[in-house]
Amino acid sequence: ENFHDVDMGEIIMGNITLSRYTRPTPVQKHAIPIIKAKRDLMACAQTGSGKTAAFLLPVLSQIYTDGPGEALQASKENGKYGRRKQYPISLVLAPTRELALQIYDEARKFAYRSRVRPCVVYGGADIGQQIRDLERGCHLLVATPGRLVDMMERGKVGLEYLIKLLFPIFSPTSYLVLDEADRMLDMGFEPQIRRIVDQDTMPLKGVRQTMMFSATFPKEIQILARDFLEEYIFLAV
Ligand code: AMP
Repeated sequence: ENFHDVDMGEIIMGNITLSRYTRPTPVQKHAIPIIKAKRDLMACAQTGSGKTAAFLLPVLSQIYTDGPGEALQASKENGKYGRRKQYPISLVLAPTRELALQIYDEARKFAYRSRVRPCVVYGGADIGQQIRDLERGCHLLVATPGRLVDMMERGKVGLEYLIKLLFPIFSPTSYLVLDEADRMLDMGFEPQIRRIVDQDTMPLKGVRQTMMFSATFPKEIQILARDFLEEYIFLAV
């Protein structure tokens, strides 16, 4: 058993080797082929199970295969906001700044030399700087729900602009990941999560590919899965 059972493109495969991951963990072994097969996924997995790479590897490799440059092409046709910009085509929501940063660091490691550009936004840091970073182009955005809603509501930047920046209609694929979904609900983020997912410009379920990760699977998570996922595969490791 190794990562070469699923082709994720030469550069990302090289980055897996560089990061010294030799054998996939159980959640990686099962989740990667499901995500590569473009299925929605509800995965019950604990912290420490390797769940981050389980969603990052197939998503980053798909963005890479689709061609990060093509998102750039599409955005050029998108008027003045599009110039020299790449729009994020994937969104990862995480409960805390610490977790968001961990996911971002892992994404940077795996995206090394791939032209796929991850970004991260979270509360308690300068919002202007985070927006400027997004404006440089982003294919995968890791965000805490509160900060993302703050950005959406930020009048100074303009909602239309933010929506275009965050949820492109031109992107070939869209991925939505809810990491540690049970913790996000415990922290009271459900309204923010629904606000983000119910955006007009968010591709509908069945169009986007949605993955939820949670340590537990209580009623509230089952409802969220029912609302956000389309004919999903349930995985417990
Ligand atoms: P996570 O559950 O995603 O927070 O990962 C827990 C830790 O395991 C992180 O420090 C990862 O870098 C590490 N890790 C994840 N997958 C592997 C793997 N296949 N081989 C070695 N280490 C891994």
